[in-house]
Amino acid sequence: MDAIKSPYWSHNSPGRRSMGSRNSVFNRLSLRKSGFMESLPKNLHKKWKISDFELGRKLGKGKFGKVYCVREIETGFVCALKVMDKRELVNYKVERQFVREIEIQANVRHVNCLRLYGWFYDHKNVYLILEYAAEGELYKLLKSKKRFDDVTASYYTIQVASALSYLHKKHIVHRDLKPENILLHFNNQIKLSDFGWSVYAPSNTKRTTMCGTLDYLPPEMVEAKTHDEKVDVWALGVLLYEFLVGRPPFEEQNSSTTYKRIAKVDLRIPSFVSPEAADLIRKLLTYEPEKRIKLSDIGRHPWILKNRLHWPSTFMNLDKN
Ligand code: AMP
Repeated sequence: MDAIKSPYWSHNSPGRRSMGSRNSVFNRLSLRKSGFMESLPKNLHKKWKISDFELGRKLGKGKFGKVYCVREIETGFVCALKVMDKRELVNYKVERQFVREIEIQANVRHVNCLRLYGWFYDHKNVYLILEYAAEGELYKLLKSKKRFDDVTASYYTIQVASALSYLHKKHIVHRDLKPENILLHFNNQIKLSDFGWSVYAPSNTKRTTMCGTLDYLPPEMVEAKTHDEKVDVWALGVLLYEFLVGRPPFEEQNSSTTYKRIAKVDLRIPSFVSPEAADLIRKLLTYEPEKRIKLSDIGRHPWILKNRLHWPSTFMNLDKN
């Protein structure tokens, strides 16, 4: 339970605590020996090279590399290029997670999930060609606003629910939902990113790896039980609470106190949160995974119905996803 490790793709903000399995298979792999490059989806591995892109401004820096806004010279297509040092991936023993991230993200096509268009490498770096999310990280916006109003929070929540619902239908469990892993495009459009902890879990299979970020862990992970896609439903409840309150619900200085509060579902909702929003938070943050509200029912919840009247009309497209 004390294995604390950040997945390479997450730039964890101070105070965020990520989990990882201590005796991971990464220890036995290396980029060269594992045939790592060969194992990635071939269709995405076009003939790309760095000279195909015109480099624009730096969008940000993660633990394992930098992200730039780039333009593909032939078509003028603007996208984001994530540049990662191959040696660092090996040194930090995260090749396996990296492969999994590419395999999963390459197959995801949803308006609220960040697209991976392709990837390539040279002697020094691995490059991911990603959809460009013009407004950057949701976490930064939340920190600057302190908390979101009900209309904004509900609009973000329904988009994340839509993305998760799509992933679950494809038997993908995200497992690391948090504001740091959500990017924003124009018009407040959510782009779920960072599929590094995601797992492909066909129906009826249960997982045991404890992963994700401490404050977002569900009771079944804290209690080292098996878990399934309903871990994402719990995390959506934590996310919604953080949107409305400005901090996650079980946050404590000391991790073991956080664990205990999660296991007991010791939920304290401030009085400024509307009763309808509090009701949805409770329905998401339900101890028993089976009793959590279904993602498909969130759109019919009274808090959503009340606030959707104020959402941008572009939301109509979302309903089709
Ligand atoms: P990462 O290495 O994925 O954690 O990304 C580092 C930073 O780059 C993030 O905090 C974002 O601000 C920015 N960033 C990453 N990917 C994108 C993207 N596709 N579009 C816009 N900004 C991005």
